[in-house]
Amino acid sequence: MVKAARAAGEELGGIKRVVLGHAHADHRGTAPSIDAPVLCHPDEVADAEDDAAIDSYMEISALPLLRARLAYPLLMRRWDGGAVGIEGTVQEGDRVAGFEVVEFPGHARGLIGLWRESDRLALVSDVVYLVDSGRLKPLPEGEASVPHPAWAWDHAKAKESLRRLAALEPRVVATGHEHPLRGENLRETLERAAEKY
Ligand SMILES: [Zn+2]
Repeated sequence: MVKAARAAGEELGGIKRVVLGHAHADHRGTAPSIDAPVLCHPDEVADAEDDAAIDSYMEISALPLLRARLAYPLLMRRWDGGAVGIEGTVQEGDRVAGFEVVEFPGHARGLIGLWRESDRLALVSDVVYLVDSGRLKPLPEGEASVPHPAWAWDHAKAKESLRRLAALEPRVVATGHEHPLRGENLRETLERAAEKY
């Protein structure tokens, strides 16, 4: 994905910094290969700077399908780019390129989203899934779910954070996987999503 990430950045004038939504292998993977400083939440620095592609709190053995339990350890290692040096941190209320940093801990310890109230756009990495990670396939159009507890640092907090996102009443939610979720007001969809697991 490095080439694609670089090309997407060039179209917008070049990548000046990388802000990690969280440090899971499939979200930090390209960061070491992009020539720009990398930032994340203070609570996520240790995991970003650690070599492990699978974080110690993940319980891949708890995923429902054998196929997923076998595939993910290999996929996570393939997607990972290794440890990432963190040059700075961002937290609740900081501004990044016209967005406000919002903390959504749970799926990962220091998971953050970027929120722009003027058009109700939320960039949230894995606060919410549009995929069924247990079955390795997208959810039906318009459906969303809290990530499976197998991935969570603290699942109860992940549900709380998803309800927090719902309360922002976003119009577009861009997640780490699949196309963005769109709707005039996504509050109900996201509140329902928090109850899936
Ligand atoms: Zn994740």
